[in-house]
Amino acid sequence: MTARKHHIIESSRLFTDIPVKTLSNPDAGIIDKVKESGLVGMGGAGFPTFKKLAFGKGCETVIANGAECEPLLEHNNARMETDAAKVLSGLTLSMRAVGAKRGIVAIKPKNALAVRRLQAVLDAAAEGSADYDIDPDIEIVFLKDRYPAGDERAIVRDVLGTLLPPDAIPSAASAVVMNVESLMRVHNAVVENLAVTTKDITVAGHIEGSGFPDDVSIVVYDVPIGLKVRDVLDALHVHTPTPDEQIMIGGPYMGSLGSLDSEIGETCGGIIIAGPEIPDPGPMGIIVCACGASEERLRAIVEAKGAPLVDVRLCKNACRLPNGRLKCRNPGICPGQAQNIIALKKEGATSVLISHCTDCSNTVMQVAPKLGMRVHHATDAFMRAGDEPIIRAFRKTVKAA
Ligand code: SF4
Repeated sequence: MTARKHHIIESSRLFTDIPVKTLSNPDAGIIDKVKESGLVGMGGAGFPTFKKLAFGKGCETVIANGAECEPLLEHNNARMETDAAKVLSGLTLSMRAVGAKRGIVAIKPKNALAVRRLQAVLDAAAEGSADYDIDPDIEIVFLKDRYPAGDERAIVRDVLGTLLPPDAIPSAASAVVMNVESLMRVHNAVVENLAVTTKDITVAGHIEGSGFPDDVSIVVYDVPIGLKVRDVLDALHVHTPTPDEQIMIGGPYMGSLGSLDSEIGETCGGIIIAGPEIPDPGPMGIIVCACGASEERLRAIVEAKGAPLVDVRLCKNACRLPNGRLKCRNPGICPGQAQNIIALKKEGATSVLISHCTDCSNTVMQVAPKLGMRVHHATDAFMRAGDEPIIRAFRKTVKAA
């Protein structure tokens, strides 16, 4: 796979009032500055970053999560291309805050420009000519191009070789995992004394009016937090979505449907506009997994397709934690879905709706069509809108109809 085409726009070209707030004490320590900045995990978790750093004290490794896992989203990749030095400065500061000796950037090799820019900064750091104080021994480690490569436990497994139990967090492997935009904003807080007032986002899908074709993702840097989706679309001259179009806030897998009145928050990864679900009025089964759309969203898609729901089953790898959240036992490594598909077929389903990782989608495709069942993926409408291959088979792409 090659990197998706993207075009970067600074918010200052779109909006007149970009809020700037400086921190009160330029001499405060790293964790105190991060705390005052209000930074939370910008990869989607929203956990306060100062708590993550404080809790991570004593961990051996800090990993920059540059997986850019969700299809269509490109803003993390873009930041590694244009602001590699700030990301690596944030990583170095985070290593110091927790006392870690090892720093790693986990990234997919398809994002070749970002890899080159990161390496160039590390080379400059080794020669003593980098713009900021950067640990030159930070390593770049490649991830497989699959979903969910950016899941924290998947990153720890693929980078450090430790498969954590579903209820464990990276500290159990002596690691702290941080999203690359969060790391850049650690730099902004500690080096530039700036509080968090903005968020990078990707706008993709049906972006008619913007001047870009649908196979381009528009990355907008530093969108003021609190702005509405309609303000962003208006500023980009993107058409106002029609009532039957869907607006996804976040990525196609894990995002949730929103509206023109939805606000850009600290964890908002993007705005994706897609057409309506394609009808499939035959009896349909659902397989819920831990890495994709919620059962609620899958049920809503079945309803939108006009299909009677036959049954809801759970991916064999998904388990429910005491807090009710689903977690995967081994993210992205499929246990086989034949049992679920055969059971749904016996119950009368003529099609199945999944939201699986690439590996599981592949195994579904090895079974369901042979039984005469159609396969739908929760991301289909959004992948089609972004002119990307729909998620069906690993290493084999299926062009959207
Ligand atoms: S194995 Fe199942 S729960 Fe785990 S990532 Fe794949 S689809 Fe999701």
